[in-house]
Order: sequence, then C-alpha cells, then structure tokens
Amino acid sequence: MSQEKKFEVAIVGGGIAGVTLAIALHYRSIPVTLYEQASAFGEIGAGVSFSPNAVQAMKVCHQGIFEAFEKVCTRNMWPSKQKVWFDYLNGSEDAVNGVGEDGFAFTISNSLGQNGVHRAHFLEEMVKLVPKDITKFRKRLQSITENSNGRLVMSFEDGTSAEADAVIGCDGIKSRVRQTIVGADHPSARPSYTHKYAYRGLVPMEDAIAAIGEERAQNSCMHMGPDGHILTFPVNHGEILNIVAFKTTADDWPDSQRLTKPAEQKDLLRDFEGYGPNIIKLLKLTKPNLDIWAIFDTGDHPVPTFYKGRVCIVGDAAHATSPHHGAGAGFCIEDSAVMAELLADKRVKSQTDLEAVFATFDAERRPRGHWLVQSSRRVGDCYEWRAEGIGRDFGKMEAEINERNGVIANVDVSKMCEHAREELGKRLV
Ligand code: FAD
Repeated sequence: MSQEKKFEVAIVGGGIAGVTLAIALHYRSIPVTLYEQASAFGEIGAGVSFSPNAVQAMKVCHQGIFEAFEKVCTRNMWPSKQKVWFDYLNGSEDAVNGVGEDGFAFTISNSLGQNGVHRAHFLEEMVKLVPKDITKFRKRLQSITENSNGRLVMSFEDGTSAEADAVIGCDGIKSRVRQTIVGADHPSARPSYTHKYAYRGLVPMEDAIAAIGEERAQNSCMHMGPDGHILTFPVNHGEILNIVAFKTTADDWPDSQRLTKPAEQKDLLRDFEGYGPNIIKLLKLTKPNLDIWAIFDTGDHPVPTFYKGRVCIVGDAAHATSPHHGAGAGFCIEDSAVMAELLADKRVKSQTDLEAVFATFDAERRPRGHWLVQSSRRVGDCYEWRAEGIGRDFGKMEAEINERNGVIANVDVSKMCEHAREELGKRLV
C-alpha cells in the first residue's frame, strides 16, 4: 500500500477501460491489481476511432496513453479532410435528388476529425505502460464476497481467490461484476439485442483505391441506405481500410452467450443487394469467410446503479452501447479519467472513503453513459433512414447528428473531473 492510500483497488477486465484505468491509477500511486480472464492482453483485429473528448480523457489518465494513441493513430489522408469526422453518402442505388454524383449528402466535422486506430496495435502500445507485477492473467471472476475484516474477496474460476478494498468491474458488455451489483436475475444484468448486426473487414488500401478511388478510400465515409449502412476509415497509417457494414433485422439473435457467428462474403453481398456500385465493389474486397457481430447494448434495461458498496462498474460493463456514435471506447476512457481523479483526491485515504468515491462516480457518469446508449441507437437509425421525424431528409439528419455529436465531443474532461471532485467533497463530510 502507498503511504497516502491505505487501500487496494482490484480491476476486473483488461480491455480499453481496464487498461486505461490501471495505468491512470498506477501512475497516481494508487495500489492496483488487474485481473484478466484471458492468458494475455488482447484485442480483435478491427478499427476503433476516437472523438475529441476521448483524446482529452487519454491525456487526463496519463500522457503515455495519448502518446501510444498518437503513435498508432491514422487520420484522414487528405489535408482538406483533417477536420472531417465522416462524409455522409447515399450508398443506395436509388440516389435521391440533391445529392452529388457519387451520392455525397453532407459532411460532419469536429475539431480533430477522424482518429482511427487498429485496436490490437493501440492496446499493445498501452500495455507497455502496465508493470507486469500488477497484472494477473487467467483469472475469470465468479463472485465477490466480504470477509470479517471488511475486505472484498474475489473468487475466480480456477479456484483461487484474492482480496482488495474495492473492486472495479471493467469486464465488458457481459459483465459479471454488473450481475454482482444488480443481481443475476435483474433485467439489466444482461444486455439485449439491438436488432442490428455488423460485418467487419480490414482490406489493403491499394485495393480499396482501385475499387472506389482515392477520395472515398483514403478518407472516412458513412454510406447510408435503407435498413443498412457501411462505414469506412483508414487505419495503419493509411495502409489498411477498416470497413464495418451494419444491417437491421427483425429476427432475434440465436444465442445471447455468443455475440458473433460465422458468415460468408456471399451473405454480406446478399444483405447489401441493390446498394450502389461503390458499395458492392468495396464489399467484394472482404475475405470469403467473415464473422457477423451482433450489436447488443444496455439500452432496453439501463443499469439502475453503477455501484454497490465498494464494488463499481466502468466502461461497457456500465453502459454498453451500439457503435453508431463511435464513442463507446471513448466513454470508457472518460470513465477511467474521472474514476482515477476521484481516487487520487487527497481526501480519499482509507477504505471508508471508497463508497463516497463510487457514489460520486455513479452520479457523475450514469446520466452521460445512459444518454450515449440511447443516442447511439437514434443516430444508427438516422443512417438507415429509419429515424422517426427524419426519414431520408438529409438536412434534418445533418442537424440532428451535429447536435448529438456535440454533446459527446464538446466537453472539457478536466472540468468534468473537477466537478466530480467538488461533488465528492459533499459526500466525504
Ligand atoms: P471489453 O473490451 O469488452 O473488455 C472487457 C475485458 O474484461 C476483456 O478483456 C475480457 O476478457 C475481460 N473479462 C470479461 N469477463 C471477465 C471476468 N469475469 N473475469 C475477468 N475478466 C473478464 N467505440 C469507440 O469509441 N469508437 C469506435 O469506433 C467503436 N467501434 C465499435 C465497433 C463495433 C462493431 C463495436 C461492437 C463496438 C465499437 N465501439 C467503439 C465500442 C467499444 O468497442 C467498446 O465500448 C469498448 O471496447 C469496451 O471496452 P471495455 O474495456 O469496457 O470492455
């Protein structure tokens, strides 16, 4: 234990939330151990992009996280598109009046434009900041109990256990820690299907340029259509194009335990039949065997509380969102920044102060987290011309997306943390 902090924190889960939080706590001299179920840190080979709020939050967590991100980040390739988040295009064949030749509809910009990274590469860079001795692998959490000394005891699937004064669940969308907080039978214990699924692909940039030309391949695009949309952005310093193709379905997902299922390129092409020639050419660049990702979220049953006693949830465990705002991982990092700043507060010294920290975190983060989940559903429907009151009206769509993206991006993360610390003060007295 550090001299100032007479408590130990356990983090369960080593994804973006867990790793950023572990780094933020460790470099603030807060005793922390991270327990991860896998045998090593790992992320999938897909792209993830970050908006300006996320980049600010990285810096608050630890400058090294920002530097790791900068090392692997790819922005739009054209100088004229540095502030462009996405160019929105009508990707369906029946282009409506008022859109440009290749279906250009409108542009959404922000102060940093598009910032795409290859997930695995970003994690790999961040992990260099995590000392080996604070990480325990092959530790799949099963339960949390309290012993007679008031310490929390985590029991793992391998039969071992470990103690801590506080447990922070960063264990993702199917969080075991969330179930511990709300009860395994509570509706919010499990995420639900948004009736959208996605195909993901990474394709060589030179092939993408040959298929759809430099402007569309080298810069981020959102190709819209009825009941489906395809987003693309460059990663790997422009060598690779990240493609994610979303489809809405009335069907249920067959197995909520498994959020992916194997598919073939012909399924993808069937789903986007009738879309414009650029889309078809792009989709044909994907591999013959693909995975379909079910998009689940916590939107049907928002988690009523992010904490119970000295157990708390962060990131997707607390507010798993569909990816239509491209902000879920960014909110994980915001969570880590706020949590780290609260725990680092000088007034937080011993085990007895920890519940006030988590109560403050819950009050500060829950409204914003739940808002993101609902807003993401709404914009996802906008892209597919399904949103009530918007339909195919691109002017209304642009205005609504701009307003919602502003809520995400136009924040001051340092002030967010400052406000949280003020609120903590009211709870500590
Ligand atoms: P996870 O990444 O799920 O990590 C959880 C970790 O906990 C894992 O390592 C897991 O092994 C471990 N774990 C789970 N259970 C246990 C247990 N019982 N015991 C021990 N360890 C356990 N967000 C963006 O900001 N921008 C984007 O562009 C973007 N694109 C997306 C595209 C798609 C298709 C999807 C599905 C999501 C996207 N997101 C995006 C959202 C983003 O991926 C998530 O919000 C983020 O990765 C969640 O991180 P996390 O650390 O909370 O959870």
